[in-house]
Amino acid sequence: RNNAEKFEFQAEVSRLMDILINSLYSNKDIFLRELISNASDALDKIRFLSLTDKEVLGEGDNTKLEIQIKLDKEKKILSIRDRGIGMTKEDLIKNLGTIAKSGTSAFVEKVQSSGDLNLIGQFGVGFYSVYLVADYVEVISKHNDDKQYVWESKADGAFAISEDTWNEPIGRGTEIRLHLREEAGEYLEESKLKVGISSNLTFVHLTFSFTLLFLDLVKKYSEFINFPIYIWASKEVDVEVPSDEDEEEEKTETSSSEEEETEKSEDEDEDSEKKPKTKTVKETTYEWELLNDVKAIWLRNPKEVTEEEYTKFYQTLAKDFSDEKPLAWSHFTAEGDVEFKAVLFVPPKAPQDLYESYYNTNKSNLKLYVRRVFISDEFDELLPKYLSFLKGLVDSDTLPLNVSREMLQQHNSLKTIKKKLIRKALDMIRKIAEEDPDESTDKDKKDVEKSSDDDKKKGQYTKFWNEFGKSIKLGIIEDAANRNRLAKLLRFESTKSDGKLTSLDQYISRMKSGQKDIFYITGTNKEQLEKSPFLEGLKKKNYEVIFFTDPVDEYLMQYLMDYEDKKFQNVSKEGLKLGKDSKDKELKESFKELTKWWKGTLASENVDDVKISNRLADTPCVVVTSKYGWSANMERIMQSQTL
Ligand code: ADP
Ligand code: MG
Repeated sequence: RNNAEKFEFQAEVSRLMDILINSLYSNKDIFLRELISNASDALDKIRFLSLTDKEVLGEGDNTKLEIQIKLDKEKKILSIRDRGIGMTKEDLIKNLGTIAKSGTSAFVEKVQSSGDLNLIGQFGVGFYSVYLVADYVEVISKHNDDKQYVWESKADGAFAISEDTWNEPIGRGTEIRLHLREEAGEYLEESKLKVGISSNLTFVHLTFSFTLLFLDLVKKYSEFINFPIYIWASKEVDVEVPSDEDEEEEKTETSSSEEEETEKSEDEDEDSEKKPKTKTVKETTYEWELLNDVKAIWLRNPKEVTEEEYTKFYQTLAKDFSDEKPLAWSHFTAEGDVEFKAVLFVPPKAPQDLYESYYNTNKSNLKLYVRRVFISDEFDELLPKYLSFLKGLVDSDTLPLNVSREMLQQHNSLKTIKKKLIRKALDMIRKIAEEDPDESTDKDKKDVEKSSDDDKKKGQYTKFWNEFGKSIKLGIIEDAANRNRLAKLLRFESTKSDGKLTSLDQYISRMKSGQKDIFYITGTNKEQLEKSPFLEGLKKKNYEVIFFTDPVDEYLMQYLMDYEDKKFQNVSKEGLKLGKDSKDKELKESFKELTKWWKGTLASENVDDVKISNRLADTPCVVVTSKYGWSANMERIMQSQTL
């Protein structure tokens, strides 16, 4: 086209497109999911703007917030069109090619190692999945602030943008036209083609059945989209047409079975006289068919929503289409001064960078709706940082609709919503443990009858802990108000846990009579800690000691001072009290001279004190850190951080 401007794709984007074009990945229809998701996002954006400015919607068809899909079998074009926000020329250049998102190279790496393209949407590059099925793509877009433009690319490293002077004006929004590749989609598979060639009739029949398949596909991906999705669907209808005299015979032969039966009982001559001379033929017509039910899942009664529906809803919400189910969910309605409905999910896996970017990013994963209208998915005020691994949605009737995002962010109700969300989130996590048969102690087991759910729930809390345990620890550090609730969720190994995870409650249930403190030791790993001389005396006297081996544990223990009225005691620190022994006083007396000598020999800048202790068994002496000083492990952590 003579008015086209050419651009090169950003290098990483180009690489990604190469991979997609050449991919042998079998589940190519994920492109449809990505396009529907983008259309839905674009509609969310225009609807949000219309809250404060009705004008943006325009009039007539432009006000219809919907998605339309069309299939042109002859030209092999699949088009999907939305009346969303649209893209300006500038948007087209930036969003579809020249700006690399942070996820681009991460995704390229992932695909190269696993070959799995299913998570493309999570990495923010879903659009490019169109090249799994198309070798030429046109994006026609009209934004309120600009003219109508066409973006086009054959995925050859470049794309072109032209002012659209040849297509019909689309009003507002975006239409994406995929020129499907020969080998794309089942309908062009060799076996089907062969049948098609042998009989023209069969071929027509097959393309029809493709529409049905495709319809199911669109249905599958539009289930939780909150805008109507229509497809331009073919439909075979029976049409009565006048028939000729000599076709009469044929008619009786091909009439439907119902008719046949009644006809048999009647006199044939009489029949042919009475009936008008018509025949039934099949005709293909097209009409817009609505494919999804736009009733939002969170508005439904939780009792009526199936497990499968929650799983699928989670997948759409989190763009997580791995085969794993969410570990837990909580669907509830909050009433009172602040009303809202919410669905929270614990994903099956933590994203790789969850803790890498923990202190730099502030990304909440909750979507905020106000009275069914999507407002934002970047609302950090809804959940504290340590719960940012949760996915979900909040729909509030109390928050005002027609104010700016900035004003919403300061709204008083948000504090209440946040507080309730945290409560519910922690309840949901606690339940994973409660329902996990691996978690219950032997005593509990006798009381609880084994349910059929047991197998499904088995080991779920360990799974949760391995993925998100660090978040719970960060929560204890950050959230003083919920510290005790969070401490209940802690898991660790100990000298008595037998290689399994155990909890503080279980520790307490095993405490020796007279034991006042909860004992723990910190270090790099369990194997090394087990050999520690600090444990000698405790083991011999049959005390249980917790192993804390995560670097964050050192920080954690600066915040977690006590639990259920029991103090925490680091056994490598001063202050360890192991019940009194009658010989203590005697020993102290008899070694008085020696301790004096030691103290004098070791300069005072090296040690604070020298004491007789009952914490050892075989080792003659140990160096202990003072009560408020850093433990040796902490020294090590700090050193490795400054290096
Ligand atoms: P993501 O949706 O995660 O941002 P995509 O690769 O799917 O990543 O899309 C890239 C960007 O292109 C979107 O963020 C959006 O700005 C723009 N875009 C894609 N499709 C549409 C559309 N139908 N309408 C408006 N903008 C769109
Ligand atoms: Mg997308």
